[in-house]
Amino acid sequence: MSTSSYFLPGTIDEAVSLAKAHPNDHVFYAGGTDIQLHVKQRLIKPNTIIDLTAIESLKSVSIQKKNMKLGTMVTLDQIVKNPDIQKFYPILAEAAKSIATPVIRKSATLGGNLKVSNRCSFYNQSFDWRQSVGSCLKDTGDICQVTGGLNHCYSRNVSDLVPALIALNARIMVQTSTGINEMPLIDLYVPDGLIVHTPLGVGGIITEIFTSDEPSKWWFKKLRLRKSLDFTSLTVAATVNKKDVLRVCVNGVSMAPVLVETGINDVTLEGLILQVKRACKTVDNDYMPLKYRREMISAFITDCWNTFH
Ligand SMILES: Cc1cc2nc3c(=O)[nH]c(=O)nc-3n(C[C@H](O)[C@H](O)[C@H](O)COP(=O)(O)OP(=O)(O)OC[C@H]3O[C@@H](n4cnc5c(N)ncnc54)[C@H](O)[C@@H]3O)c2cc1C
Ligand code: SF4
Repeated sequence: MSTSSYFLPGTIDEAVSLAKAHPNDHVFYAGGTDIQLHVKQRLIKPNTIIDLTAIESLKSVSIQKKNMKLGTMVTLDQIVKNPDIQKFYPILAEAAKSIATPVIRKSATLGGNLKVSNRCSFYNQSFDWRQSVGSCLKDTGDICQVTGGLNHCYSRNVSDLVPALIALNARIMVQTSTGINEMPLIDLYVPDGLIVHTPLGVGGIITEIFTSDEPSKWWFKKLRLRKSLDFTSLTVAATVNKKDVLRVCVNGVSMAPVLVETGINDVTLEGLILQVKRACKTVDNDYMPLKYRREMISAFITDCWNTFH
């Protein structure tokens, strides 16, 4: 990658200070599997790379029965293979296994997946392709091309770990130059395809994700063209916890993950499908047609419902 500065900090404090010193032009580099693609397609041109790979404290895994704490530099491969995650939080292992390929999962990290860039079949193309068809709001244009000219971006959040983690009621720790904050993972996402993530604060790094909401039932399914590689066209993750709280999180069909949380006995199947569909702002920006994806939301939720009842 051609950049003007590259840093390899050994501690979180050092990484935060570097980010503070380069407020507008830095990017944190975790596994690089998302960043490199964006640089190659000339969608981003970072001036300052802050490589997180030497920070050992971001690589910790701690699972003690109900309590799971994962550092954000834990790789997807580690998540798939960890026997405690398989035992207590199998939905997370299943979600990680559905991402990319075994080779990519050895570099790709949890933190990078939480902040993976949104996708749109119009925007995520090579530079030459984009040059030949024109531009859109997310690039240098002034309208959204896939909606025929709306003034809003509907690029899709395509993370597959995120719906599983939100269904597990996960929270994150964020370190900035002014301290350490905790927040629910769902609050990291903004339903606007241009903004995508809540600003973390000066120098902000997500350091850890944790949950203690071990589910009594879980369900996970991903719709994609080829099982071997493709990004999601629809991911649904759901859990029921020991207090009979149902958490259904849907991703890949809207600008941010959509969560419906309710008592398992307080909603009908039809009511649940309606709530999810109302919250999803799905447009025609995927290789699978809009109508089919919306029908598959109903099909997945029905399948999930039948498994839980
Ligand atoms: C062929 C291919 C297929 C893929 N398929 C899928 C898929 O099916 N599902 C899916 O979800 N993803 C997929 N991906 C995208 C990507 O591989 C994963 O999302 C991966 O987990 C990203 O992690 P990374 O460590 O490589 O992120 P990076 O590329 O290093 O970083 C991604 C973003 O996260 C930010 N970041 C990283 N760590 C932190 C942190 N600790 N704090 C704050 N910001 C941080 C970076 O600055 C950057 O903006 C695919 C990628 C490829 C190339
Ligand atoms: S949804 Fe519209 S504005 Fe957003 S990336 Fe796609 S074409 Fe561009």
